[in-house]
Amino acid sequence: MFKEFNWVLDLIYPRRCPVCDGPVKAFEFKNGRITRGGFIHRRCLKKIEYVRGPLCQKCGKPLGRNSTEEYCEDCRRTGHFFDRGFSVFVYRSISGSIYRFKYLGRKEYADFYGLATKKRLGKKLKNLGIEAIVPVPMYREKERRRGYNQAEVYAGAVSEFLGIPVETGLVRRVRNTAPMKELDVVRRRNNLKKAFIMPQNDVKFKCVLIIDDIYTTGSTIDEIAHEFRVAGVEKIYFLTLAIGQTT
Ligand SMILES: [Zn+2]
Ligand SMILES: [Zn+2]
Repeated sequence: MFKEFNWVLDLIYPRRCPVCDGPVKAFEFKNGRITRGGFIHRRCLKKIEYVRGPLCQKCGKPLGRNSTEEYCEDCRRTGHFFDRGFSVFVYRSISGSIYRFKYLGRKEYADFYGLATKKRLGKKLKNLGIEAIVPVPMYREKERRRGYNQAEVYAGAVSEFLGIPVETGLVRRVRNTAPMKELDVVRRRNNLKKAFIMPQNDVKFKCVLIIDDIYTTGSTIDEIAHEFRVAGVEKIYFLTLAIGQTT
């Protein structure tokens, strides 16, 4: 029912390609039959770089082709509260796309992001025993102004193929933090102090997956992972759309 409704919507408002933002055809001719168009131009798909090994065994950051290290420099220096992280894209190859997804209302990109996540990490994620998907929450006022939380939109697409529910009531953002890109690492950590609380002391889940759009220093995800640790959650994983690469 919803799927058919979406077909009609795609005809009226052509969906946009997550790489170039140009319109993507709602229908395509394939082997003499009409099929539904994809989410992305074929030529644009080639421009995207996926995260591939060797990877940091903690945060999942690509270490560079010839690296023999087990962890990235950041994870060797700083302890983390999460167990393990996974990301789909190398940030520089998809930064413009994520910007539009975040600030310009391109929620439809989540369909492609979800599909790419399923292809790259679906099997791995299914074997982790995840019971709940937790998008990094936005400060309520900020979300109201933007109209949506991009992490939650992405989490919805991941939830769909994993068949695991999104839980938005577990963590709440109680402080509006300054944009992270304007701060250095130390100030980022302080900036996030007590930015998140858990409204219920009791978390019934033993294994959770925190979802965000970008992994930079990991301080945001760590702050939430710390809250889950205190609440007795045993396994804490994260998934982000994109992560930087060690050069
Ligand atoms: Zn394109
Ligand atoms: Zn790392």
